Amino acid sequence: MQIPPSSARSPAPAGVATHCPYCALQCGMRVTDARPAGGGIRVTAREDVPANQGGLCQKGWTAAELLVSPERLTTPLLHGRPVDWDEALGFVAERLVAVQAEHGPDAVAVFGGGGLTNEKAYQLGKFARVALRTGQIDYNGRFCMSSAAAAANRAFGMDRGLPFPITDIARADAVLLAGGNVAETMPPFVRHLTRMRDGGGRLIVIDPRTTPTARLADLHLRVTPGTDLALALGLLHLVIARDSADLGYLAERTVGFDEVRTSVSAWWPERVERVTGVPVALMREAVRILGAAGRAMILTGRGAEQHAKGTETVTAFINLALALGLPGREGSGYGCVTGQGNGQGGREHGQKADQLPGYRRIDDPAARAHVAAVWGVDPGDLPGPGRSAFELFDALGTPAGPRALLLFGSNPVVSAPDAGRVARRLAGLDLLVVSDIVLSETAAMADVVLPSTQWAEEHGTITNLEGRVLLRRRAADPPPGVWTDLEIMRGLADRLGRGDAFPADPGEVFDELRRASRGGIADYSGITHARLAAGTGLFWPCPAEDHPGTPRPFIDRFATPDGRARLVPVEHRPPAEDVDAEFPLYLTTGRVLAHYQSGAQTRRIPALNEAEPEVFVELHPDLARRLNVAPGDRVRVRSRRGTAEGEARVSAAIRPDTVFMPFHWEGVNRLTNAALDPISRMPEFKVCAVGVERVI
Ligand code: SF4
Repeated sequence: MQIPPSSARSPAPAGVATHCPYCALQCGMRVTDARPAGGGIRVTAREDVPANQGGLCQKGWTAAELLVSPERLTTPLLHGRPVDWDEALGFVAERLVAVQAEHGPDAVAVFGGGGLTNEKAYQLGKFARVALRTGQIDYNGRFCMSSAAAAANRAFGMDRGLPFPITDIARADAVLLAGGNVAETMPPFVRHLTRMRDGGGRLIVIDPRTTPTARLADLHLRVTPGTDLALALGLLHLVIARDSADLGYLAERTVGFDEVRTSVSAWWPERVERVTGVPVALMREAVRILGAAGRAMILTGRGAEQHAKGTETVTAFINLALALGLPGREGSGYGCVTGQGNGQGGREHGQKADQLPGYRRIDDPAARAHVAAVWGVDPGDLPGPGRSAFELFDALGTPAGPRALLLFGSNPVVSAPDAGRVARRLAGLDLLVVSDIVLSETAAMADVVLPSTQWAEEHGTITNLEGRVLLRRRAADPPPGVWTDLEIMRGLADRLGRGDAFPADPGEVFDELRRASRGGIADYSGITHARLAAGTGLFWPCPAEDHPGTPRPFIDRFATPDGRARLVPVEHRPPAEDVDAEFPLYLTTGRVLAHYQSGAQTRRIPALNEAEPEVFVELHPDLARRLNVAPGDRVRVRSRRGTAEGEARVSAAIRPDTVFMPFHWEGVNRLTNAALDPISRMPEFKVCAVGVERVI
């Protein structure tokens, strides 16, 4: 592979230009490794990256500490005992062969993550299907982006989080953000909203909590958890009632409006207020703002998406956007705010249960033939679709389920729904192998732990929330003895007799990914590491090396067979688990500024840990009074699945019928409900019924 000049092993004084290890904003940063000269590793923000333009959040500023954490794993562990790589990989390969010989290929499962580079995600999908010949692979992005992806695919024929550059946000006259708290999850995103507001634009936020993002809003719709769908139906009802629907656009660029118009006719404002708790006057004001905007955007985040009706909820917001004539117009549109660092690229190249590279479907004969030719295998030898993430976890160790699991870049003991059940399933496996940088809660359960490199120690690409493919350059040496995930897959494939098909060089893997994605929806064939090194990224689809990339794919037509977007009628239904006498409160979960996802990385950074050292339970003052809870008291939260404790934080920012807990610590997801969306298989993370009591 030709390493682009700025990835040279001796960084220039300004540091190596790369990107943050954490969220999907993928802020640009420079990393200077002065350790060879007796110094430390330093991070500075890049001005040239449109997503952050010189800004970083606390997590980004402290990211270098992750590279030198004393908790880094530096040697493989076999049943807790340090061993060399040969012994570790030999043991794993021997056990995998034995398990498959006894129980069949699908007895081995693979689980990936939305933080893996495109090269790793691609290679993992191929490794599962070619080296292991198992169909049992999925990834933690199923818990993150799947509802928005399913809804966007159905409506537009393509799922690209923001189908426009992030800088378009500043040009809008109004933005409606449903269930996203960007001020805490990705603070530099706020500068785009601020610019929009500085230019006279209005921000509407839908959230059960008065989050830091909701505080920035001109209008906050404080919805009851689990009722965003009813609110979206009510807003569309009002758009139609006040003649704000763009009938010309609907006729020209969409199908399905008549059915949707009929379906929302029963969602009159007073009914929606009863269901959602949002006053009619605020709904009318939201619709007035959106209707008056020349350019407007509707964005969704996990708060609206992580429900057993997440696909329908996002569909309702897309219907609203289409009725207003927004998608496919410059400066307007619908988008989802992707969460994980490579949440976008990670869902495009084959680590999903139902997917092959290039956003192809694994049950499509033409897709199978194309990818099989790139992989040099018979299409008939490729397995079919596997189980979705929670269904996969729930099957582990059961008579019909997988007996062994290889897990890369994920910590489901903390982050999966009904996590106590998932931990029990993991404990019942014959073999659990985890590749990670630290001994996460899941790695601590593993038979074999493989120490891997992290962001600035390896070369690769990620695709940010805009669909912009970026180069993450190697900027620091990994600790001795640590391998990249590509090297780990190569080492295992060698021992399984397929090493020749699994190069460990990220450039070689990316070149193969380009061929495999050629002609697919997410076509990367025109993107090269060298092109990425020369600029600030390329938007897919990019089908040729002289193609400029596609910042706004829907300007002329949508990616459906007839080029028109689909409006799809959807109906509201209550949460999968509603409150009752025993569990009288809603629990909703989310993030805090200092931590990222399961916290396996950020909880090991002193400044972040000091800022947020432990889990808390946010309760309204009225509820706290009723429960005799004072700020700082220890509080126990019970659901039908488990209990968790945390320190009480009493705040009027939360509704009196709801408690909030951040999910970065083990225990919180023991409470959450694994009821699944029938289309996306997204679990209902965002609402379940709980009881709360003071710990005496
Ligand atoms: Fe930027 Fe997200 Fe990293 Fe913060 S965590 S610096 S917002 S990429």
